[in-house]
Amino acid sequence: MTRARSAPEKRRRSVPFHRVDVRDEDVDAVVGALRSGWLTHGPLCRSFEQEFAAATGAARAVTTSSGTAAMYLALVALGVGEGHEVITTPLTFCSTVHVIEHCGARPVFVDVEPVTLQIDPGLVGKAIGPATAAIMAVDFGGHPCDLTALTELGDAHGVPVVEDAAHSFGALHEGRPVGSIVTATCFSFYATKNITTGEGGMVTTDDAGLADEVELLRLHGISRDAWRRYGEGGDWYYEVTRCGFKANLTDLQAALGLSQLRRAEEMRARRAAIAARYCDAFAALDHLLQVPEVSPSVRPAWHLYPLRLRLESLDVDRAGFIRALADAGVGTSVHFIPVHLHPYQRDRYGYARGDFPEAERAYDRLVSLPLYPAMSDDDVAHVVDAVVEVATAHAR
Ligand SMILES: *Cc1c(COP(=O)(O)O)cnc(C)c1O
Repeated sequence: MTRARSAPEKRRRSVPFHRVDVRDEDVDAVVGALRSGWLTHGPLCRSFEQEFAAATGAARAVTTSSGTAAMYLALVALGVGEGHEVITTPLTFCSTVHVIEHCGARPVFVDVEPVTLQIDPGLVGKAIGPATAAIMAVDFGGHPCDLTALTELGDAHGVPVVEDAAHSFGALHEGRPVGSIVTATCFSFYATKNITTGEGGMVTTDDAGLADEVELLRLHGISRDAWRRYGEGGDWYYEVTRCGFKANLTDLQAALGLSQLRRAEEMRARRAAIAARYCDAFAALDHLLQVPEVSPSVRPAWHLYPLRLRLESLDVDRAGFIRALADAGVGTSVHFIPVHLHPYQRDRYGYARGDFPEAERAYDRLVSLPLYPAMSDDDVAHVVDAVVEVATAHAR
């Protein structure tokens, strides 16, 4: 049965919050890895580590099964444990904080500074005490935090700086690539991140001893990699030297990572161009919308485009703004619900609203817009039009 159409069906454009950028070359790389017969950790992981180290200017890079595993192994390798404190920001994903708890340490939050929403080094300085075992800095949105101030603080107190760089692969801080600046930098290759392996992570460091320790911990504490054990001329003998973890990447994933890494610069430039387009388009609406501000000493990786609503000038709240954008065919998200407001942290440590006012104030206003290389120019224009329309319609 057919129905006559009185008018051509108009398909409304819809831009999802995220779409992966997987191309034929990525598919071919993964198929190639499958055909090679080596499915788990092996030579492609090694190549990915070498090329990633070169890309970030780090002496060493160690693959892991996730960004969370990268952070956890870095903390364990640095000796973080029971009775220790690790200073971090509440404006992050929960896993930044969970890894601290898994070590048996206490996460100590300090608030963000209100302009870039990065961890406030002045407050970090005040929070450092005899139990502080590490500073866990987070490059919120892909904008590197003040790594110079944090490194100076860490050096002055003998405390390592670990960087949650899940958002910031490809970013520069004072001209240096993220990955080559602090004690240990932890990257995520989760599906939405700037380059992806589906799931995966990496620790970069200039400290060879630390890299060796992370390598041991990632695969059961076994002193030789399985691929060498079974490789030609290999040896059946190995030793277990640590109570290690099972947190390795696979060659299937590394094949995708290598392929993504080859066009990382193109993808980074595309993200930057989209972000610039948004900033230009929203500049005229500064009374309604606050665009993300970039510190002059960095080049962000633009993982997110965290727009802030000037709620005092709008007649909707953030939830209403998000609904209106969804009705206009624009997918959005919120980064992040401050970690101290989640029931687990709130109940365990007795946090309440008001404890970290800058993070909370930001949270109430934040809307992350679509920002990924697979967006077409028409997608970008659609997002711009929708945001301008919704903001203007709801101006007080
Ligand atoms: C994605 C993300 C992580 C976790 O990375 P996984 O690879 O998913 O484990 C950690 N911190 C931040 C800020 C993230 O966005």
